[in-house]
Amino acid sequence: MPKGESLYLPSSSAFGTVFLMETLTGLYAKIEAGSRITDHEALVLMRNAPLLELGRLAQNRMCRFHNSATVTFLIDRNINYTNICTNRCRFCAFYRDSAAPDAYLLTHEQILEKVAEAVAQGATQIMLQGGLNPGVGLEYAERVLKKIKAAFPVLLHSFSPPEIDHFAKQSGCSPEEVLHRLKDAGLDSLPGGGAEILSDRVRQAISPHKIGAKRWLEIMECAHHRGLPTTATMMLGSIETLEERIEHLRAVRDLQDKTGGFRAFIPWTFTAGNTELGGVATSSIDYLRTLAVSRIYLDNIKNIQGSWVTQGIDIGQMSLFFGANDLGSIMLEENVVRAAGVANRITEDEMVALIRRAGKTPLQRNTQYEIVKRYD
Ligand code: SF4
Repeated sequence: MPKGESLYLPSSSAFGTVFLMETLTGLYAKIEAGSRITDHEALVLMRNAPLLELGRLAQNRMCRFHNSATVTFLIDRNINYTNICTNRCRFCAFYRDSAAPDAYLLTHEQILEKVAEAVAQGATQIMLQGGLNPGVGLEYAERVLKKIKAAFPVLLHSFSPPEIDHFAKQSGCSPEEVLHRLKDAGLDSLPGGGAEILSDRVRQAISPHKIGAKRWLEIMECAHHRGLPTTATMMLGSIETLEERIEHLRAVRDLQDKTGGFRAFIPWTFTAGNTELGGVATSSIDYLRTLAVSRIYLDNIKNIQGSWVTQGIDIGQMSLFFGANDLGSIMLEENVVRAAGVANRITEDEMVALIRRAGKTPLQRNTQYEIVKRYD
């Protein structure tokens, strides 16, 4: 039952209503006291708490980490070096078979040109992300990282776990060795892509050829142990149940307890256009409810990102009242969500204005969440 309009479970009797109200009141007090909530409590919140109450509680949690008067964002470019991919995920509108007329693989020179353009526009981070292309191996990745690092003062936040797994298989190396070599070549951190929902039932249905939840978590753990921080993402609104969303949050929270290596959590919504999976987009209310519960549940992750890319600028702004302290990147280039027919764009000036209209002070950050510019 993933769609927002179906989340509320009205009590069938006066007794049930009183019981639910008492349960929620006790739960609110627990959250306000800063205590960790259980999976069951997260589910109760997700199903029953009024939207504005969820926002209030999420903001309460956010203020334990951050000054609520400020909001951070980043300038970066997401360079998708190839759209050729053998995984053929059913929710993906970006991938192409190698014989497709619009299939591509960028040369290193093309990538360096894109990096130069991004740096000229103020980018502090470059993301390299692509399909699992049999023609792209570890050496391609190593060489391009070295070339970028030698020429530009940018942080390289690149290659999510499915790509690390692909490089390992292509090269015959272990994921540990792949991460070691990429770090030596200049990799600074990993994006949390490929997580979708960390539940094997969901993964089997929407991306049967992609690495499983266990492998995604193993690669992230390995990156953390190698001194490579990462983010974690969640794609909500495809076929998952609310219980499976909590399962995903639990996997992320458990690993964070172990390693402390997740810098941020980024929930975003499935975009159905041009995909084999299809379906109807989930509601913005569902997104905001899940964002707020994520902030409350993930008491060990400092940064929770609002998604203007999939939800649009207005809901991105609303996310700042549902637990998000950061609006991610203005993304000088974005191709994956665009391929599914959603083309939200924002400039630096528009981002600054959006945050100011929310009554907050914009701060530009880098990948490491260090402030590089204030807009007082
Ligand atoms: S989501 Fe990633 S792995 Fe899946 S088909 Fe698209 S590019 Fe390939």
